[in-house]
Amino acid sequence: MADAQESQSFTGRCLCGACAYRYEGPVLSVIHCHCTLCRKAAGAPFTTWITVPKAGLSWTQGTPRLHRSSSHAERAFCPSCGSPLTFHTDKYPEEIDITLGTLDEPERFPATANCFTGSRLSWVKADLHLPDYPADPDHKDR
Ligand SMILES: [Zn+2]
Ligand SMILES: [Zn+2]
Repeated sequence: MADAQESQSFTGRCLCGACAYRYEGPVLSVIHCHCTLCRKAAGAPFTTWITVPKAGLSWTQGTPRLHRSSSHAERAFCPSCGSPLTFHTDKYPEEIDITLGTLDEPERFPATANCFTGSRLSWVKADLHLPDYPADPDHKDR
């Protein structure tokens, strides 16, 4: 993974293409989240997030719909196809998490840790060599 201070740029889009984005700036982290909220929101065993400063993200197409998924956080998804796109918490207003799977080139950003591993499904064997954190290593309650 690239140096955290190094400026990166990437683009991404939802499944149908109604929502598309561009990001430029540093990448703060790439983490598999095994929490139960992410599991429901994505409909997948776990969700991989790329966390970046919010200021560097711009929507080049469409406007995602927001869903307040807990008292302090909201998730954005495409109103047409439902693809989960971002997670944002009031506790860290300067940051935003983007679903790695919506990047055009997700191969570029391998995950470096697992978080909320207390909720990890027992049969998920992905990236078990990475560090495990019972919560989020940085902060976030989902
Ligand atoms: Zn869409
Ligand atoms: Zn989560």
